[in-house]
Amino acid sequence: MQVDYIIVGIGLAGISFCEQLKAHNKTFVVFDNASQQSSTVAGGLYNPVVLKRFTPVWKCKEQLDLALPMYANLEVELGVKLDYKIPVYRKFASLEEQNDWFSASDKPTLSEYLLPKIIKNDNKSIDAPYGYGEVLETGRIDVKTLIEAYKSYLLSHDLFVESVFEYDDLKIEADTIQYKNTIAKHVVFAEGFGVKQNPFFKDLPLVPAKGELLTIHAPNLKIDYVLKASVFLIPLGDDLYIVGATYEWKDLSSKVTDLAKEELLTKLEKLINCEFEVVNQVAGIRPTVKDRRPLVGQHGKYKNMFVLNGLGTRGVMIGPYVAEQLYNFIEKGMTLEKEIDIRRFAF
Ligand SMILES: Cc1cc2nc3c(=O)[nH]c(=O)nc-3n(C[C@H](O)[C@H](O)[C@H](O)COP(=O)(O)OP(=O)(O)OC[C@H]3O[C@@H](n4cnc5c(N)ncnc54)[C@H](O)[C@@H]3O)c2cc1C
Repeated sequence: MQVDYIIVGIGLAGISFCEQLKAHNKTFVVFDNASQQSSTVAGGLYNPVVLKRFTPVWKCKEQLDLALPMYANLEVELGVKLDYKIPVYRKFASLEEQNDWFSASDKPTLSEYLLPKIIKNDNKSIDAPYGYGEVLETGRIDVKTLIEAYKSYLLSHDLFVESVFEYDDLKIEADTIQYKNTIAKHVVFAEGFGVKQNPFFKDLPLVPAKGELLTIHAPNLKIDYVLKASVFLIPLGDDLYIVGATYEWKDLSSKVTDLAKEELLTKLEKLINCEFEVVNQVAGIRPTVKDRRPLVGQHGKYKNMFVLNGLGTRGVMIGPYVAEQLYNFIEKGMTLEKEIDIRRFAF
């Protein structure tokens, strides 16, 4: 088989890059063995504001302008609902935080995203005496549904091989790259934390950050917004809510732990006072980077080999943006932004 691209990994990075290839009529085949779960378990939130500090997310406007149309197209193409528009309410812990909110909402970079008023809490199940601030242009992508539907789409078009990618089987020539019986012009590695097994890019300074989430059933909670306090509460419908997330840098297995469950429950019990039952727990490894910028670029020696990684805690928004950057770099000879180019690191 001859294709323009081999893609390794079908998380948010891989899907975003495949969408670029489809849009430009490039041929490709994807390999994935479901060894990483970061995208599958993600809460799926998109939100243009850093809610800890009330600052804009890096390139938030550019990211949203690319990401939202991509998910809207995929909804049509795959025939599934993906984008749930839902406001995010940031709980205030003090009067000082309320004041900080008003100052932030006055700034030109934030005024379109922060509603300049305090929303009173009238829900007896939630402890929020200082009320909330509402973030605009937010929502949730159902990433699990996206990945399942995307894999089915690829399978039905013979574009997907469900198997581990064995790096030793690559034969690299100047103009082509061969993997088993597939000959391609380029290979793009989008393996998330799996990149640590990749001999060509394993030394990139990726910092894996394990995250766990609970799903609870809470019939009396009755909130129809995402609540951001010491934890996130994300309504899924049918009285189900995602509660998350934890951050852990030592345990790098994708297994769920009692420790994370306890941490989330302790925080949750301080936030809500209605009855609930835990119905699910999931874990994944976020591919984060120390300087909080993605890892995008070309291998130093093999010019037909590329990496798309480091999507960190915000893969939903940043994936489509960096995929376009990489595509334009490879196919149109455009320069990669310095901030995302892997050449900013000596590795
Ligand atoms: C608990 C948690 C909550 C999160 N919540 C959010 C959120 O609300 N909003 C948000 O924007 N982001 C969120 N994130 C972050 C987001 O999930 C990541 O940014 C994103 O998933 C990274 O996508 P990726 O495609 O780079 O990596 P991954 O999703 O890890 O995908 C990599 C793929 O490569 C495959 N792979 C790896 N190695 C090989 C190999 N050798 N052979 C074959 N296949 C291979 C893996 O199986 C996997 O499918 C969350 C993450 C976690 C863990």
